[in-house]
Amino acid sequence: MFTLAIVGRPNVGKSTLFNRLVGKRLALVDDQPGVTRDLREGAARLGDLKFTVVDTAGLEEATDDSLQGRMRRLTERAVDMADAALFVIDARDGVTPTDQVFADILRRRGGQVLLAANKAEGRLGEAGMFEAFSLGLGDVIGLSAEHGEGMADLAAALRPLI
Ligand code: GDP
Ligand code: MG
Repeated sequence: MFTLAIVGRPNVGKSTLFNRLVGKRLALVDDQPGVTRDLREGAARLGDLKFTVVDTAGLEEATDDSLQGRMRRLTERAVDMADAALFVIDARDGVTPTDQVFADILRRRGGQVLLAANKAEGRLGEAGMFEAFSLGLGDVIGLSAEHGEGMADLAAALRPLI
């Protein structure tokens, strides 16, 4: 099954998007006590497309000094188990230094990368959408995971890969 890893810094809306794609079909959650659920995997449906989606969770609890390293390791793990990565930034924040770190990780890792600017509903996200092009990762998919906007564009970008 084609696997898409959702990666990006905390708070950009990765889990919101994961939940929208997976709905109630969440599967394969590691429920062992004491084990941090760093990667969540679910069966995604987007229009007629079916694939496995991986959410890089668990970054939110990291302390400042460990965040960078954890983000790197987790992102690399997710990307390595996936066929493609969906790199999410916050359209309202534009491209931050932490986003640049992720872009570097993804560039070094190679493989298919899709770039999405989330929270793009309304006009607040427009500047961030344009900034996202400067990451040099190709086209920018404008999304609002919370409001379900841009899902057809996401499907159109994914379809040729699946
Ligand atoms: P994660 O840390 O990347 O997994 O981000 P979350 O999915 O936990 O979302 C972080 C915050 O952004 C939450 O308060 C969400 O409700 C909010 N959020 C997620 N998607 C959107 C969106 O499309 N638009 C707006 N305005 N807020 C969003
Ligand atoms: Mg999350």
